[in-house]
Amino acid sequence: MTEKKIVLRAKNVQREFVSGDTTVTALRNCSLDVSAGEFVAIVGKSGSGKSTLANCLSGLDRPTSGTVTLLDRDLATLSEAEMAGLRAKEIGFVLQKDNLIPSLTIEENVAAPLVMGGMKLSAALDRARDMLAEVGLQHRAGQWPSQVSGGEAQRAAVARACVAEPAIIFADEPTGSLDEENGKQVQEIFHKLVATTGAAGLIITHDMDLAAGADVVVTIVDGQVVSTERKA
Ligand code: ADP
Ligand code: MG
Repeated sequence: MTEKKIVLRAKNVQREFVSGDTTVTALRNCSLDVSAGEFVAIVGKSGSGKSTLANCLSGLDRPTSGTVTLLDRDLATLSEAEMAGLRAKEIGFVLQKDNLIPSLTIEENVAAPLVMGGMKLSAALDRARDMLAEVGLQHRAGQWPSQVSGGEAQRAAVARACVAEPAIIFADEPTGSLDEENGKQVQEIFHKLVATTGAAGLIITHDMDLAAGADVVVTIVDGQVVSTERKA
């Protein structure tokens, strides 16, 4: 049996926040492997450290100690510019809300990662419109983020996170501000697009329903990984 390539590896990641004379340990000794094409759910209560972990894993934040390796590169060794380059190329990110740039149209938002990667605007917009069709938003392409619903904005954000075919796509509570029906739609689209691009997917949620369908469910309590369940 061939082993799948490990895209992301966290080893003993610790993150402390110091303010004045108090220290909050948001993450303690978190270790985690994500393989190519694997779908991972990180579940835990509010305040358990999920966003801190996602931020450390995606290079938005730096751990106090421990190592994060993305595509065999130790993130601690990268300069800010190298980190920004790696993030732009290999990491997609969907947040809970306010994902889209308000001064760009929906199609321009989705095209942005391609343009930043050097693609010509016209080609990037063509590709963005294809992606929008895949998430059922072709009719919204020319509109502004303020003109679309919350569910539509999140679907566009998923399209944007996937468009440049990064190695790993994070979603931090992507349905947290949506009603049940829209949340379900966004979840399905996230699964579908991640599977289509062949990327690894990492969804962060306090909702066990959202973790359904993941290959791996990682449970975090008080900043610690307490279980990692891998589907057979
Ligand atoms: P979750 O995403 O699971 O709700 P977070 O990762 O946001 O949890 O937070 C985990 C813990 O770390 C909480 O106690 C939170 O207050 C603390 N925390 C997160 N970010 C900061 C920060 N920038 N400064 C101080 N404490 C923080
Ligand atoms: Mg959070």
